[in-house]
Amino acid sequence: MITGRCECNKVRYEVAGELKDYCHCHCSICRRLHGAAFASWGGVARNELSYLAGEENLKRYAFSENADSLFCDSCGSRILVDFKPEADMLYLALGTVDGEVTCPPGFHQFVGSKAPWFEITDDLPQHDGWPND
Ligand SMILES: [Zn+2]
Ligand SMILES: [Zn+2]
Repeated sequence: MITGRCECNKVRYEVAGELKDYCHCHCSICRRLHGAAFASWGGVARNELSYLAGEENLKRYAFSENADSLFCDSCGSRILVDFKPEADMLYLALGTVDGEVTCPPGFHQFVGSKAPWFEITDDLPQHDGWPND
């Protein structure tokens, strides 16, 4: 069981299954939304995620036609991304997860738009855009 929460503790969730995907995204949208060099995401099955509290505190921001960022309306923590074409999946902002989580093999994506002041120093695979392109 994976559990997590926003910084102010209004929004709390649990995931019944495992992470199915694990990546660090360097795209400019993730960088701005997270105020960080990159955002770390874990793919979970949509029907395995449930809210323990605060679902009504989640705000949606559509950063593209197909994708919404969901964040706490009180503290602003990014909780997940809803890519509408992927009806079965949601992407958890891994920084909101409590404690340890078992991750599948990870990778970097959108390295082509990486922050110039950040250097990737691990050995994970790097993709300029989406991993399958
Ligand atoms: Zn919050
Ligand atoms: Zn991104």
